[in-house]
Amino acid sequence: MRDIDPLVKELLLVVPACAALAGAGILTGAGIVPLAAGFAAYAGWHLYQLDRFRRWIEHPKRERAPFRIGAWGPVTDSALTVRNRGKNRKKRLRNILGGFQESTSALPDATVVLDEQWVVEWSNNVARDYLGIHRYKEQPREIFDYVDDRVFREYIEAGDFSRPLQMPAPVDYSITLEVRVVPYGKGKHLVQARDITRLNQLENVRRDFVANVSHELRTPLTVVHGYLESLIDADGDDMLDDWKPILGQMHSQSGRLQRIVEDLLTLSRLETRGRSEGVETIAVCETVNRIVAGATSLSGEHRHDIVLECDPHLGLLGNPSELESALSNLVFNAVRYTPPGGRIEVRWFGRGDEACFSVADTGVGIEARHIPRLTERFYRVDVGRSREKGGTGLGLAIVKHVLIRHGGRLAIESEPGVGSTFTCTFAADRVQRLRGGNAGHRVVSG
Ligand code: ADP
Repeated sequence: MRDIDPLVKELLLVVPACAALAGAGILTGAGIVPLAAGFAAYAGWHLYQLDRFRRWIEHPKRERAPFRIGAWGPVTDSALTVRNRGKNRKKRLRNILGGFQESTSALPDATVVLDEQWVVEWSNNVARDYLGIHRYKEQPREIFDYVDDRVFREYIEAGDFSRPLQMPAPVDYSITLEVRVVPYGKGKHLVQARDITRLNQLENVRRDFVANVSHELRTPLTVVHGYLESLIDADGDDMLDDWKPILGQMHSQSGRLQRIVEDLLTLSRLETRGRSEGVETIAVCETVNRIVAGATSLSGEHRHDIVLECDPHLGLLGNPSELESALSNLVFNAVRYTPPGGRIEVRWFGRGDEACFSVADTGVGIEARHIPRLTERFYRVDVGRSREKGGTGLGLAIVKHVLIRHGGRLAIESEPGVGSTFTCTFAADRVQRLRGGNAGHRVVSG
């Protein structure tokens, strides 16, 4: 009977009953009265079953199911199947959620789910240790009630979560946290906080070590380099004449060491200096003109064709010496890695609200596989060539650091044997409109 359609099943009951009642009416002379009474009873029965069905659907545990007679049997079975399916799905979801909560609770990082109003919806146990959020104890509260930190509030309210935030843990200032915020759903956020105290300490030790070693080496190197220079310049000493080639090599190597030490010191200064230190409006064209003059003299007999195009009304908010060091590294690299007579185009121009500094050369070019690693310290495509050109392998690392501090980004396009273009793009909030400006469009030929 299970597979029979409910309607057919019902008709199988109704039709014989109607026939019987009609027959009874004819036989007894009561006409349609038995049939009408039968229909009334039938309608009443269905209304009763319907009401029972409604109550049972709403309160399945408290109420009883409708009688399984006629169509009501299969209908009740279908309702039961749908309900059980829902129940199983719910159970599965509950298990998944339970597993998810368990695994997130076991994470070594503090994890907090925030609703659209920054109110804590859920947090794991580590959130209590790092952020002081006790999720079981309290009424839901805003995250700012726990993390009462101005920098954190500004970071959240600015809404730019592309970079993580470093801050002291609100429960213990000796712990340094790295906070990441991930927006999801409709206005919700996931906050993750990681303890980076040890990492920071190691990073500080590394930074101090490099800075101290570089600093200690600086003076002896200057002395050795200076004496070697004097010896090379000394005239009229036959003995020294024999040594001159060796002295020349020693002099060039000590010069290389000096440049490495200077670059390492520049890098450690960039790492330790506050972001806003020495920041002022820079007339970039003046800086670039100076750099191009230096590049022309570096080019010397190689007579590169150095072309400069500069928008004099475009200034930049930043640290002048840092910026000059970064931009000059790019231009000097172009001179170093471009064969004699090659063309070097230096441009400073606006693109939308942003400003770009680009150096395009017709030099040796770089294979694509090296490009992502060029800004690493001491990474060189060709160590021999870099040394021969007086490179330290630190130039592009300096460029990267300066750009990070100036809200800029570096793009490198290159084709071996054709040339390279290095483009620094500075974000709109760093770009300044200058009134005057006398160092405009100019062409310099080497
Ligand atoms: P280096 O002091 O060796 O030039 P950089 O950090 O300035 O160190 O550059 C890293 C490497 O990138 C260089 O060794 C060189 O191989 C490559 N490079 C940089 N600029 C250019 C360029 N304009 N053309 C070709 N290769 C370049």
